[in-house]
Amino acid sequence: MGSHRTYRSGMSRTDRDLDMDYPPGVNAATDRYGLLTFTGDVMLKRLPPDVFKALQQTMSHGEKLDPGIANTVAMAMKDWAIEHGATHYCHWFQPLTGQTAEKHDAFLSPEANGGAITTFSGKQLIQGEPDASSFPSGGIRDTYEARGYTAWDATSPAFILQTDQGGTLCIPTAFVSWTGEALDKKTPLIRSSEAISNQAMRVLKLFNADAGVSAVFTTLGCEQEYFLVDRRFVEQRPDLHICGRTLIGAPPAKGHQLDDHYFGAIPERVLDYMNEVEQRLYELGVPVQTRHNEVAPGQYEIAPTFELANVASDHQLLLMHILRTVAEHHGFVCLMHEKPFAGVNGSGKHNNWSICTDTGVNLLNPRDDTHTNMQFLLFLTAVIRAVDLHADVLRASIGSAANDHRLGANEAPPAIISIFLGDMLSDILDQLEAGKPSETMQEQPLDLGARTLPQIPAHTSDRNRTSPFAFTGNRFEFRAVGSTAAIAWPNTVLNTIVADSIDYIVTAIEKELEAQNDLEVAVRNVLRDVLKVHRRVVFDGDNYSDEWHDEARQRGLPNIVSSCDAFASFESPNVQAAFDRFNVLSPKEIHARVEVLYEKYSNELAIEGRCLTSMLRQFVIPSALRFQSELAETFAATSAAGIECSNSKSLLEQVIALVTQLRTALADIDVALAVSHEEADKQAEHLRAALLPAMTAAREASDALEAIVPADLWPLPTYEEMMFIR
Ligand code: ADP
Ligand code: MG
Repeated sequence: MGSHRTYRSGMSRTDRDLDMDYPPGVNAATDRYGLLTFTGDVMLKRLPPDVFKALQQTMSHGEKLDPGIANTVAMAMKDWAIEHGATHYCHWFQPLTGQTAEKHDAFLSPEANGGAITTFSGKQLIQGEPDASSFPSGGIRDTYEARGYTAWDATSPAFILQTDQGGTLCIPTAFVSWTGEALDKKTPLIRSSEAISNQAMRVLKLFNADAGVSAVFTTLGCEQEYFLVDRRFVEQRPDLHICGRTLIGAPPAKGHQLDDHYFGAIPERVLDYMNEVEQRLYELGVPVQTRHNEVAPGQYEIAPTFELANVASDHQLLLMHILRTVAEHHGFVCLMHEKPFAGVNGSGKHNNWSICTDTGVNLLNPRDDTHTNMQFLLFLTAVIRAVDLHADVLRASIGSAANDHRLGANEAPPAIISIFLGDMLSDILDQLEAGKPSETMQEQPLDLGARTLPQIPAHTSDRNRTSPFAFTGNRFEFRAVGSTAAIAWPNTVLNTIVADSIDYIVTAIEKELEAQNDLEVAVRNVLRDVLKVHRRVVFDGDNYSDEWHDEARQRGLPNIVSSCDAFASFESPNVQAAFDRFNVLSPKEIHARVEVLYEKYSNELAIEGRCLTSMLRQFVIPSALRFQSELAETFAATSAAGIECSNSKSLLEQVIALVTQLRTALADIDVALAVSHEEADKQAEHLRAALLPAMTAAREASDALEAIVPADLWPLPTYEEMMFIR
């Protein structure tokens, strides 16, 4: 392995080619890249060749893990980790909290003779037994049933998290209950990848394109948006501190009207931060690539190059961890919330998703002469069918109290799930629906009108930033995913519903082939039938417009504004059947997840409600009353001097009216918080219906007060300060 990152095709990377088919492996290379991750060169140097090969087969070709290699791998990992300053190891897993969890054990064990030796066996690598009772299980486990297991996921590289004082070897693991039910986000993701692999293999066999292919993977590249706010402001704002978003705050004079932040020059302090983040991520083998200013002031984006889904999902969590930790070194707080500032662009996590063989062929790459590429058109149609049939489930898969504030607001896709395809593909689908597709629209060269500027090829369609689910040349970009989301879950859902659709289509084609022998005709007939029903989910226009809302209603597409109304779609019989059939999750496991979603929704809302009431009581009302008494004094003194002062009087009345409004809303919030329903869905529904409107009313009064209370009496950092000072 040389000094470049190598690709499956054996080529090294020279430019950023859109048509790159296979994700870069983590075959460590230049400088410090991958120094702290147990893959590539590190594995090659430290493992006997047969063990290296066996592990590679599992990591890159989805082969069954040979437990016989565990002792050798464990020993090599331990030595490597200790050489890099690690004192402990942990099984690193993803409980349903949406965060990661880790329980550390020291490598050092005391011996009877008073000495100590370092130990780490294959058994310790393969299996752990954390107490499962304190993680959300959605009722699968009672608290007295504490046993849970973590199991080594050899397909995702172990890594070392270093601090100034040492390091911890983190081993990515699945987390299941004693009875085998999944209690985490990784297990169903891996199961759903197998489902898609099995179904996609059927397609390849159908087209005689399976030679040498032993598995099909999904690939993921996630663009992460975030805000940076100076730490001192966050410390003065309980809402940011506790909830990660501002619960009150008047709009700033300047937002993103001027479009002067997007892709703007990155401030030096922020650039220093980004450099450190990237350095840390490189060492951990996370291939970060892109960075830029986002739409809102104080908002930024980071994106790694795509990887195999399971690794990308682990790396995403690691990336969020590093973004948060490194912010502290630079006096920032990294706000990952979907909507930290009302009225300002929110943060998403564009989830770029594709399907790729283990021989390196991107199955969603339309290639030249797309109209003849029936295999591509089959996969495309399967995605269209899946998204149309399960738009509600996809909406639910990205649902959270936080993401509800973002969807449908400034610069974010609406809650209506639709697909953008662009002119070239839409044209081919038109042809297909009418008969046999006969041509593919070609790129036209773009003349820049000056001799010194190059002619560049234009794409066959423009970008569409407004679509929640857009085809972007060789992949789909699911843009509705929220910035705090662990991507494993939306991708589990996506994989499962697409696997289900591929299954449906291939089965129909097989049936068609019993009647006649022409594969192409059979494929065309089936795709045409599917498109007739499901093409309504394709929309290439402006998803932000009101007209689209009307049109979507006419097309019968769901528009589920509140996540709390979306979660139930997981429990519809056909969804449960699909998850069960592909062994992704049993109905019991799905039900548990839905319970957890409702609980999380309610908990987040209740925490926000309590935080808001204390801020209003401790900060807003006291400063309003101070202002009120200043105004009353001014009014009394001015009137006593016999001078007309109706202005101060009306201002005084305005303050009093707003405080009254605030107190009424506060009382409503208190009432809403006092009610509690036994059933998780009822409680969530109650808080949505009673608490949210009361919080909005309180916010309106508070923001109106902020606009008139003198700055020296207003106790909280303003939007202006938080978004513009750095
Ligand atoms: P843009 O903002 O133009 O959408 P970015 O460069 O910010 O694009 O991010 C695009 C993301 O899509 C990157 O993470 C990139 O690696 C990823 N990507 C590219 N090809 C694929 C693919 N075949 N499968 C999954 N993700 C991909
Ligand atoms: Mg993008």
